[in-house]
Amino acid sequence: MTYEPIIGLEIHSELATATKLFCSCPTKFGAPANSQVCPICMGHPGTLPVVNEKAVEYMVRTALALNCKIAEITTFDRKNYYYPDLPKNYQVSQQYHPFGKDGFLEIKTGNGAKRIGLDNIHLEEDAGKNVHPEGKSVSFVDINRAGIPLVEIVTKPDLRDVEEVEIFMNDLRNILLYTGVSDCKMQEGSLRFEANISVRERGQNYMPPRVEIKNLNSFKIVLSAVKHEIGRQMKMLEKKETVLRETRLWDDEKQITRPMRSKEEAHDYRYFPEPDLPPLFISQEEIEKIKKELPELPNARKERFAVDYGLTEYDSNLLTSSKEMADFFEESLKVFNQLHPVRNSPDIASGRTISNGAKEIANWLIGPVTRYLNEHNISIKETKLTPELLVGITTYVHEGIINQNTAKNILPEILEKGKSPEELIKEKGLTQVTDEGEISRAVDKVLQANQQAVKDFQNGKTETLGFLVGQVMKITKGKANPKIAGELIKKGLKNL
Ligand code: ZN
Ligand code: MN
Repeated sequence: MTYEPIIGLEIHSELATATKLFCSCPTKFGAPANSQVCPICMGHPGTLPVVNEKAVEYMVRTALALNCKIAEITTFDRKNYYYPDLPKNYQVSQQYHPFGKDGFLEIKTGNGAKRIGLDNIHLEEDAGKNVHPEGKSVSFVDINRAGIPLVEIVTKPDLRDVEEVEIFMNDLRNILLYTGVSDCKMQEGSLRFEANISVRERGQNYMPPRVEIKNLNSFKIVLSAVKHEIGRQMKMLEKKETVLRETRLWDDEKQITRPMRSKEEAHDYRYFPEPDLPPLFISQEEIEKIKKELPELPNARKERFAVDYGLTEYDSNLLTSSKEMADFFEESLKVFNQLHPVRNSPDIASGRTISNGAKEIANWLIGPVTRYLNEHNISIKETKLTPELLVGITTYVHEGIINQNTAKNILPEILEKGKSPEELIKEKGLTQVTDEGEISRAVDKVLQANQQAVKDFQNGKTETLGFLVGQVMKITKGKANPKIAGELIKKGLKNL
């Protein structure tokens, strides 16, 4: 029997407004507990909320970027429940007339493009935070976060495997970053995921009961939890067991999902229209105005990178897959073009100017830099690399002061310590050897020590040249100019 996972996501993202949704308290992260509060967000009786205009603008932006139908009239509702971090005993959310409906996000998977439907996106306020200090039998409540605006994005159950989930999360995060509506810092709780998962026999159409997994606060955790839950449900189906509709939590230590206590789960929110907030009317003109001011989105940037910089689709894809990387690329290019205006080459056919730097910088970012970031699981912003340093590296390589290999070897130190290539070259005596005499001596040694390779070359096996150049690089500790080494080897072989 083969099975098919059905996955939907619910995403909460804090909007990057300076003040809260219904009061003028600041939203800065990391302030002392309960220092950013007022009677409104503390839920004192008799206070009245006023909607933050910026939050509304950000919502429209998000809805437009996610291809949603935007409601002309949108209303707020109370979601009633008790929890110590919710002093009002209700959360203002949108149950009946959300901002956006029927949107989609198109992802590119190995099998081509796929539209992931978005059921709705709505605006709501965040709750406070309960703090449980370790080893103490006491808990604290911090209301700072209460009232920070959240956009909640609810997908349709259109995702089919862990890979699609990963691509979707990354693309969605990118759109939220590109539109500037959220900083998406997962470690600060600005972006939180919940997943709904069920599994059915492949080829069937019925909707099995779904399991909801709450509080997934990193991409890695979402992926581990989804993967584990799919496996758990498949095993149950194999054993002809019934999967119950329930809410489960991810246990990161044991790497499993476990059921939430049923008491925690039982809820009846008794939604009803928020009496203190009138319906919100958004005119077509307002929507059009926001549309015009919409920043460039990832797909548009991808196309522009290909057209303006002459990059391949593959390169532009990788560079724009994170906003940080795309920004870094363009800033580096600016630095490059200031330094080397002559290395721009006009494209005769189109009359455009194609910067040679584009390909050079793209190669560095996509290749060694990305490899390093993946190995250390960090973003480019978390390194000490700056556009100036990166352009410095390419310049030293271009001018033949160091070779590509040496540059790659010193890259980690630049990324970690922010040392300039110049400093490192001096410190380590890395200057590339272009002196023919010195390389010549190394070539002689190599040819003598590798008689078999020499014979092979003379018998027409020209690929041994690469091996011989490698040997010269080894003797010179990587400092020889490989081009000169290659030429000298060829000369040497002829004269043998
Ligand atoms: Zn307040
Ligand atoms: Mn919510």
